[in-house]
Amino acid sequence: MGLVDKGRMPKPLTSLFNLGRSYSLWVYQWGLACCAIEMGAAFGSPRYDVMRLGVIPLPASPRQADLVVVSGTVTDKMAPAIRRLYEQMPEPKYVISMGSCANCGGPYWDSYSVTKGVDQIIPVDVYVPGCPPRPEALLEGIVLLQQRIKNEDMGARSSSAVVRLSDTSITETPALPGDGLRERIVQRLRDELGDGFVESLVKPGDDVWVRVHPEAWRAAGLALRDALGCESFSFLSAIDWMPSPYGRGEDDPTAPLPERDTEIKQGYTGGSTRMQVFARVTNVVEHFGVTVKADVPDDAPAIDSWTTVYAGANWHEREAHEMFGIEFNGHPDLRNMYLPTEFEGHPLRKDFPLLARMVKPWPGIVDVEPLPGEAQEEAQEEAQQEAQEEGQSNG
Ligand code: SF4
Repeated sequence: MGLVDKGRMPKPLTSLFNLGRSYSLWVYQWGLACCAIEMGAAFGSPRYDVMRLGVIPLPASPRQADLVVVSGTVTDKMAPAIRRLYEQMPEPKYVISMGSCANCGGPYWDSYSVTKGVDQIIPVDVYVPGCPPRPEALLEGIVLLQQRIKNEDMGARSSSAVVRLSDTSITETPALPGDGLRERIVQRLRDELGDGFVESLVKPGDDVWVRVHPEAWRAAGLALRDALGCESFSFLSAIDWMPSPYGRGEDDPTAPLPERDTEIKQGYTGGSTRMQVFARVTNVVEHFGVTVKADVPDDAPAIDSWTTVYAGANWHEREAHEMFGIEFNGHPDLRNMYLPTEFEGHPLRKDFPLLARMVKPWPGIVDVEPLPGEAQEEAQEEAQQEAQEEGQSNG
């Protein structure tokens, strides 16, 4: 394989190798949502018989795999794991992105938690469109990939910038080209916000986090949008860093609360209050994102609204208001979205007891309210009964 690495293989040998690689693809799969059912049908059912194409499906390990099929909705939470397992695959390796969600975020492209395409974290060789694609579409994607492999120049592919896991001289996470960019983002924000800039963290090859002063929260949104070109709003939410005083669901609600660690640790870039708001925005041209956060004062949990900076922040702030009890100054309409207006408490605060038997039931439980039309029927029945009784007494 030394010849392969150097790209000096004679052409007949290259053709032979490529033919062998095309028809001995080991696949491991990332089935993440509905598309995974179609992938399962393609890989697991005799109707489609993928092995006739020279594909060995479903070993549950990246270490022998040549190909990974990512099918379904990739979330930002899942993205690092996908990347890690991709890096554990030996070269040469290939990726098929199956379905709209894996291709671009699909129906959830505007969600606060969904990655807008798996190609943001790993290179994709073939995109299979559809929501969901049929199993035949995946088979066609595999055939297209095989055609590509057959014509591949192994030398060119091997010389591409890949991190080889076998290279034991690498002991630290290698810096990606984006790290320099991230340092510049931090510096630019520091320049824009002055004293409003509090703390930052750049993790090599990973991401950037910035903490700003609560009073600079709106200014931070404006700086990110206008000075740094982060025009895409991903999400805004909050965290209550207080450790929950409650135990697991089976705890006896009548028993005294257990002793628990009460120290508040605010995560990346630190903090000094129990609750923080945080938001994620991205620059889709230069392909970077920033997570920005700010302390929310404990005595009066309120912070400026981002609705005039990013329109998409509107319902995210409503949600944070409802779930954490944080006021957003300047928000046009902080109505509840999930809970009844009369609901007391904020369910995502850590001191809110989640067991239904421990919380006060809110007024107006649905099963005692008449269903639509029910009240009318009852009134009719009552009227009929009264008429009958009247008729009997007259008779
Ligand atoms: S593309 Fe459609 S079918 Fe596939 S995971 Fe997304 S929503 Fe489900």
